[in-house]
Amino acid sequence: MVKTAVILAAGLGSRLGQKIKDKPKGFLVIDEMPIIEMSICKLIEAGIDKIIMGTGHLKEVYERLAVKYPQIKCVYNKQYQTTESMYTLYNLRDYISDDFILLESDLIYDKVALKILLHHSMPDVILAGELTHSSDEIFLETNKNHFLVNMSKKEEQLKNIDAELVGITKISYPTFKKMCTYAETVFDSNAKLDYERTLVGISKNVDIYVNKLKDFVWCEIDDENHLRRAIQEIYPMIKVRETVKPPIKRNILLNPGPATTTDRVKYAQVVPDICPREKEFGHVMQFVSTELTRLVADPKEYTTILLGGSGTAAIEAILSSVIDQAFILIINNGAYGRRMCQIAAVYGLNYIEYKSPIDNIIDLKALEAVIQDGYRIISHLAIVHNETTTGLLNDIESVGNLCRKHHIQLIVDAVSSFAAIPIDMRRMNISYLAASSNKNIQGMAGVSFVIAHKGKLESAKNVKPRNFYLHLYSQYKYFLETHQMRFTPPVQTLYALKQAIIETKQEGIKERYERYSRAWEVLMKGIARLGLTHLVNKYHHSKIITAIIEPHSMNYDFNEMHDYFYSKGVTIYPGKLEEMNTFRVANIGDITYKDIEYFVELLEQYLKGIGYIK
Ligand code: PLP
Ligand code: MG
Ligand code: MG
Repeated sequence: MVKTAVILAAGLGSRLGQKIKDKPKGFLVIDEMPIIEMSICKLIEAGIDKIIMGTGHLKEVYERLAVKYPQIKCVYNKQYQTTESMYTLYNLRDYISDDFILLESDLIYDKVALKILLHHSMPDVILAGELTHSSDEIFLETNKNHFLVNMSKKEEQLKNIDAELVGITKISYPTFKKMCTYAETVFDSNAKLDYERTLVGISKNVDIYVNKLKDFVWCEIDDENHLRRAIQEIYPMIKVRETVKPPIKRNILLNPGPATTTDRVKYAQVVPDICPREKEFGHVMQFVSTELTRLVADPKEYTTILLGGSGTAAIEAILSSVIDQAFILIINNGAYGRRMCQIAAVYGLNYIEYKSPIDNIIDLKALEAVIQDGYRIISHLAIVHNETTTGLLNDIESVGNLCRKHHIQLIVDAVSSFAAIPIDMRRMNISYLAASSNKNIQGMAGVSFVIAHKGKLESAKNVKPRNFYLHLYSQYKYFLETHQMRFTPPVQTLYALKQAIIETKQEGIKERYERYSRAWEVLMKGIARLGLTHLVNKYHHSKIITAIIEPHSMNYDFNEMHDYFYSKGVTIYPGKLEEMNTFRVANIGDITYKDIEYFVELLEQYLKGIGYIK
């Protein structure tokens, strides 16, 4: 097998301007690592034990890297300023004695590329992809057997455009010799020969196979647009694809969080130990904070304050930190609304509990009448978005409009809706929103967060602190200044959350909600077929969690049913409000409607077993 790699790294990278001042292009950093080092790690992992680097511009930086990786041998092309890539390659001829993988230094790529080339039966293989339209592409023309005919940056020079050059090529030693011989004939008149033209030059005599991959993820980074694309789109995709580790037993969690996660999220926690006070970890938290904000608001106007804790911590942080002497009106139409009242009571806040039916919409007129009663000054209103007790979806936008009209700041408990049901904080007039890492965002439990309007948060800074750990403004200020949490964060959970955010962005919130909704439709049809009903009607249902009325049967027992499901890898949840005989099924997390079909099958078996149905 091929054991050698050759990296062409002499270039000036002039199009990247200020992005890389005193470093060559390969030292652009993405996710804490220079891209060249990422590439080297992939090569070593793929079994390469000799990496020859053709250097030029700022060669000493690569030479320092060679100290860290003994596999690297740097060879300097003195004439790098007046020559092109083929001269850099030719300059390595005394060091190359075998077949090799040729790479450019400014690439990021899915490491599957190396596996494909290393195991390819052909001796000379150009790796190619579909057209990226990313500018500066090199187009490939091939014959009907997929052998190279021509390549060029200029479309008009080719008869057909069959693929795009990636910049990773397997070259056999005999072919390398032919490339050198060809180059010698050209160098006399023109030292500006690149390796691509050389391959075209010998292609009449040598069969160079063009292996075009579908759906391959890669990019080169020549300019700032490439760099932006690399950071925002390509790198996250590569990371996700490369994380193929042994599958972990999959449980179907139909409790309302923690939800079923992807293996990639689980594995994202397996990282080298790190002190969370290090800058590197600050970047992770910065990413998490900004991207969480971006899911519901513009980070210029809103900010995310991270806390170690469960969802309740975020709610408690808001309620205890932002309300001064005036009243907070809390809507209670389920257990989580009631919980906010309990928190308000503990902190001795001036609060008004507004009770609303647990299975029907809020009467906005009656609510407005309370706001307008004139006895008390109401500064804040708190509401649960998706009441997890029942699946009742509160119309936060209308309540937000009411708040706008009466100059009230709106606090939303979005713990069980965030990252599934689209939210626009600005449009909905939400000042503070609470959520956590382990529900629809599909991460691990342990991070709680508040997304706040910066202006409102600033105006809350003079409220006398009622607690220490959960004091929202202090946590915000400290993070702003240091990129650290005030107290020890759940380190690994944050790594998992970062991955979960990337996956959320990839799927899209709207699309995630469609996936959940499809699963919910299957659940609705399934329980109806089995003769069961549920609490809240579909017009104001969140389609995320459903309170199903327990079957009327002497033989029914929730715990027995739970254990039956559990033994089959499915977890369901008891009801919440004492007065209702319900059990609950959530359809969130990394599940599909097929998992719900399986749940319905099991439910049918259980109900037959207790004689509820035939
Ligand atoms: N609010 C809502 C709407 C919830 O659904 C939950 C949990 O299910 C919470 C708050 C509390 O979250 P945690 O249990 O993470 O504290
Ligand atoms: Mg280019
Ligand atoms: Mg390039």
